[in-house]
Amino acid sequence: MSVRAKPRKVQDENPGAFVAKSLPTTRKMSAPRNEEDKKSTDAKARCPSKLQGSQDARPSKSTRDANSTKEPETPKRTKSGENKGASCCPVRRDNSIKENPRRDLQSAPEKVKKSQRSESAKTMDTKVSRPPKPREVQEVCSTRRDTNNTKEAQAPKTAKSVEKETAPICSARRGSSIDENPSKVLQTALEKLKVKKNQRSESAKCVNNIQNRVTEYVKLHLDWCKDISVLKTGSYYENVKIYEPDEFDVMMTVRVDRVKLLPFSEDGAFYSVEMKRQSSRHPLEKFVNEERTIMASKMLDDFREKVKEAVKELQNVSLERKKTGCPAVTLLVNEKGKQISIDFVLGLEVHTSWPSFTQGGFSIENWLSKKVKQDQKGKPFYLVPKYEGRGSAEQDGIMAKNAWRISFSHVEKYILKNHGNSKTCCEGGQKCCRKQCLKLLKCLLQRLKEAHPEDADKLCSYHAKTTLLHACAARVKDSEWESSELNHCFQQLLGDFEENLRACQLSNFFIPSQNLFKGISRKKCHLLADYIESQRNNGFPLLS
Ligand SMILES: [Zn+2]
Repeated sequence: MSVRAKPRKVQDENPGAFVAKSLPTTRKMSAPRNEEDKKSTDAKARCPSKLQGSQDARPSKSTRDANSTKEPETPKRTKSGENKGASCCPVRRDNSIKENPRRDLQSAPEKVKKSQRSESAKTMDTKVSRPPKPREVQEVCSTRRDTNNTKEAQAPKTAKSVEKETAPICSARRGSSIDENPSKVLQTALEKLKVKKNQRSESAKCVNNIQNRVTEYVKLHLDWCKDISVLKTGSYYENVKIYEPDEFDVMMTVRVDRVKLLPFSEDGAFYSVEMKRQSSRHPLEKFVNEERTIMASKMLDDFREKVKEAVKELQNVSLERKKTGCPAVTLLVNEKGKQISIDFVLGLEVHTSWPSFTQGGFSIENWLSKKVKQDQKGKPFYLVPKYEGRGSAEQDGIMAKNAWRISFSHVEKYILKNHGNSKTCCEGGQKCCRKQCLKLLKCLLQRLKEAHPEDADKLCSYHAKTTLLHACAARVKDSEWESSELNHCFQQLLGDFEENLRACQLSNFFIPSQNLFKGISRKKCHLLADYIESQRNNGFPLLS
């Protein structure tokens, strides 16, 4: 594949963000770029950022906001530079006041030795004798490998030592209160995150009804939607939704067989889609421009009109205003006093082999088996419209409008559901904590965004999901994720995330060449790493 357009700066660095629901925040909006933008500034506040991984200004977040007030006092950020990270947390232990968190982290083993040498030698031995990470599964991509190697080299200094330091046994012996027991903190946080069962089924029922109505209506009234399929993706359907079930994504997809993908960006995440000439007229033919490129904007306009008609009669359902740069049609549903939003996103279901950019990615052989990998790669993949980012006027050009983002959300959904190295993980007796770790990481990032809106605005839940997928591919055995080891596993996962931030590199799990941290400056990455480090060292104050 040749790169057709001059690679432009891709701001939409979170490919699954619209699917893997992102984190609310109070982010600063970029200035409106044109007249249309000006009109829809407040609506825009939500959507483009949602694509990018945040869900600003969403009315339904009131409950979350309420939750966030329970947080410990937000630590004030001190001068960046020599005193970066330690300020993140309330001071709990003497070691949380640091001149240089990183230096301190490196000296952590010493401290651990001192505090534990006499009493917890046994515990340490057990921890140290954990099975090493299988190296062969770390070949996600060269960058990733580098990161992992670094991690391995530093392991004794970081994750494990910190984990020991914060292990329940330590705090208990120090005579700390039970609240400072990190395992307890995590368990309590998870309890709070649980979506209540009855709430879940009520919302799901309501969403299903509306979605069925919309689907039937567009099938009937749009010729190109006759064979449209519904793909339910996102955290709700992956069972990793945190807080209330108030946001749903429904991807409605149109099958295309004879298309040519032309990479739009050099990292292989964005494409323009050229429809090849077909013997019979394809229903999407009417959206093809003179270059034979499928124009998403026209499809969406058409679709939007029909969705509007479909819900006209429904009480408590309203269509959110059209937003520049947002490829979703959003319905707001008032269900028993609660607001639910449903995003309908149009997608193309592409029946060709996965693009070459996916080579070296999706390294699940040792985790889920070669067969599962093969099966998944035999499935179609999806393209969703990518409109302009928040960037320059140049990015709002026609090229950006016709760009599509590749999505593997269906595969993500499958492997999160079938996540065990053994087929019976979480189904038989053996329980793992992979999903719990993901929920906790999502929650922590969300809290981080709330505590440091300026620094953490670009973090999103897709970063959490990607980090987990890499971790699962690196630590493949179910025994490495035993639910009784939640604290250890979460420490490790957070350690991974911190390492990625230090390296300013988080590869898309499917497209190794796409760095999901691309849009975050080095300085911010390091600052965020310091915040995370501080959380790890201090028993996750943001989660308590
Ligand atoms: Zn499991």
